[in-house]
Amino acid sequence: MPIVSAEKFVQAAREGGYAVGGFNTNNLEWTQSILRAAQAKNTPVLIQTSMGAAKYMGGYKLCKDLITDLVDSMGITVPVAIHLDHGDYDAAMECIKVGYSSLMFDGSHLPIEENLKKAKEVIDLAHSKGISVECEVGTIGGEEDGIIGDGELAPIDDAVAMAKLGVDFLAAGIGNIHGPYPADWKGLHIDHLTKINEALMAAMGHKVPIVLHGGSGIPDDQIREAIANGVAKVNVNTECQLAFCKAQREYVHEFDANEAEYMKEKLFDPRKFLKKGFDAITESVEERIDVFGSANKA
Ligand SMILES: [Zn+2]
Repeated sequence: MPIVSAEKFVQAAREGGYAVGGFNTNNLEWTQSILRAAQAKNTPVLIQTSMGAAKYMGGYKLCKDLITDLVDSMGITVPVAIHLDHGDYDAAMECIKVGYSSLMFDGSHLPIEENLKKAKEVIDLAHSKGISVECEVGTIGGEEDGIIGDGELAPIDDAVAMAKLGVDFLAAGIGNIHGPYPADWKGLHIDHLTKINEALMAAMGHKVPIVLHGGSGIPDDQIREAIANGVAKVNVNTECQLAFCKAQREYVHEFDANEAEYMKEKLFDPRKFLKKGFDAITESVEERIDVFGSANKA
């Protein structure tokens, strides 16, 4: 299947009471690991790059080409969207230009009037090219690419104003944060999510998919509850990084303990040396897909 925009499969998830995963990638093998999991689970998927990851990998065009070529060479048949995560205005414009199929414009740090004005420009241009758009209102706690949010609950009027611009799916803070969760975290505010949904339904006359950022580290029962209450896309980044790191650290210890043998077997070859880490990402993605309920929804 070619690369697709995400609005149809995210809306289907919203209607069907499950969520699709938006998994961040960092390099070629990371992308392969996510694609393998999505294909094995027969689920639609968004592969996302943050601005920082795209810069690290060599630019947006490279990311778009890399994901497109892997989908082709790996014979992937499930729907895959190439998505920009937390893009500023310039990044959104560049991703439209190079052919991403989906993007997030994050103007959440701007005054709401300016956020809405820029979001409208991005949405109109992206939609004219068949690209799906996610926007954010309020801020999401934690740190992402140097942007620190205080974790406020998304203002309901702002969510409605953004939905009226035609946004395909909406990131709205409900107590979630980016990165590892602190021990004293108070949990998701499902009551606030319900209020947002009611306001969106009243204003739009249809269900608007909500995006849950900072999906890594939220207890599974809370994620399921959020999905039952309108979340149709869950972003996962830290979880895969931790899985990769844990598996690689174990492997390095194993290598050290058996150095002579491993050297003789040439396990220093990066294709072998990094295998356990990337296998751990596939496992982690598959496990998330099961929790989100999107297996066999491709
Ligand atoms: Zn995020």
